[in-house]
Amino acid sequence: MLTIDPDGESLHGACPDCGELTRTVWGYVATEQTARAVYYIRWTDFHVERGAQLAVSIGTWGDSARPTDRATFGVECRIGATGPSFMLVDAESIPWQDAFLGTKLTRHLALGHPCKAELFEILDRVVEDDPRFRTFLAGKMRD
Ligand SMILES: [Zn+2]
Repeated sequence: MLTIDPDGESLHGACPDCGELTRTVWGYVATEQTARAVYYIRWTDFHVERGAQLAVSIGTWGDSARPTDRATFGVECRIGATGPSFMLVDAESIPWQDAFLGTKLTRHLALGHPCKAELFEILDRVVEDDPRFRTFLAGKMRD
């Protein structure tokens, strides 16, 4: 059982096309026993047709863990009539490159990675349990 803990957000200014705010939100994912992942999501409010970009770093956290104990998946989210869908992309192509995120997976490595099923479980949970992302997906995000 994974639980989602939504945390902070940062704002990146107005979209040059529509004037709405581009923002990044982030949060944490834990099992019943331990911290498991951190996620970032970037989108422009109301710009649902552009979708969203995500990074999810999965692995071992805490004082004795090193960045190499984690792997970061790059994900593009498209939002269609039936809801969001997720596509793996090279993690180097997403906006977050902090060292603590760990190894940045190419799309090819991500597709064969042992944490891939866990990643998609996390994405499903984020869609359900991060109220900020839910609001964006519903097309209503406004300050
Ligand atoms: Zn826009």
